[in-house]
Amino acid sequence: MTLEIVKCPTCKQKLGVQPYIQVGSRISCANPGCNTMLLITKRHPIQVEVVPYKETLNADSSPESYG
Ligand SMILES: [Zn+2]
Repeated sequence: MTLEIVKCPTCKQKLGVQPYIQVGSRISCANPGCNTMLLITKRHPIQVEVVPYKETLNADSSPESYG
């Protein structure tokens, strides 16, 4: 089992993705200056998609504040 390497679409940082991370999982870019949330859309070969910031806010099902 080896890491798959994917480049962050935002900053081109190379990220090693563990074999156990499955499609549909989210990872965050390892670059502290980027920190983009990435959704795994495909494995072997790996593909990722940037998760829009708005969606990341709801990712943990934290309640939105109304009013
Ligand atoms: Zn990045």
